[in-house]
Amino acid sequence: MGGFFSTSITETFLGLRDLFFPRRCVVCGKTLDGEEQDLCTDCLEELPLTYQWDIVQNAAFERLARRFEVEAAASLFFFGSESDYRKIIYGIKYGGRRALACRMGYLLGSYLAGSREFRRCQAVVPVPLHPLRRWKRGYNQAEAIAQGVAEALTLPLETHLLHRSRYTKTQTRLRDEAKTKNVQGAFRPDPGRVDNLQQQGIRYLLLIDDVLTTGSTLAACADPLTAAGFRLSCATLAFAG
Ligand SMILES: [Zn+2]
Repeated sequence: MGGFFSTSITETFLGLRDLFFPRRCVVCGKTLDGEEQDLCTDCLEELPLTYQWDIVQNAAFERLARRFEVEAAASLFFFGSESDYRKIIYGIKYGGRRALACRMGYLLGSYLAGSREFRRCQAVVPVPLHPLRRWKRGYNQAEAIAQGVAEALTLPLETHLLHRSRYTKTQTRLRDEAKTKNVQGAFRPDPGRVDNLQQQGIRYLLLIDDVLTTGSTLAACADPLTAAGFRLSCATLAFAG
């Protein structure tokens, strides 16, 4: 009896919420049904997955391996310039859609969980945002993605290891060479956290960012971590072609 009432009350509430505040698919804009979250069923099914977690020498790995020693790398979906799936990244980056970032991170983490390549990872580390930009944006999108990834992999989320020591320009509008210069030396590991992780026997880290473009941001994070003795794998939501 109680079950019946609580179900119908929940349904009524969700129905009313959707009536007054229609939720829309972030990709196609269609009104979402009660069960759907962020993406409609069709857009979720058609998400252009990379399947890089099943391929050792994939495009993400090769792009990063040119810059630093990387164990494994994968992105969740392709990010074409014409694709409406770009809107997922815009929503996460500029639309303050934290829950969307966590859910997409969880999806990425579920694929990584089934991959041999990522089995050695012991902790999840998001690319940090400078405190000023974090304040402007309201949250660090890489951290929200990493939270979902860590949950799916049942690994600890390590947010105090890396710090952004310089305020850098946003990478989006810079040319490749300028991107590398812009972020070089921008990240520093916290020596106390390095010792603490090493005492726990944590050596393999999984670095998380929203988009893999040139790989310069991940490389700038990887260099000081590798120098501190860590081995790194990387994962991002989107892979920019
Ligand atoms: Zn849709």
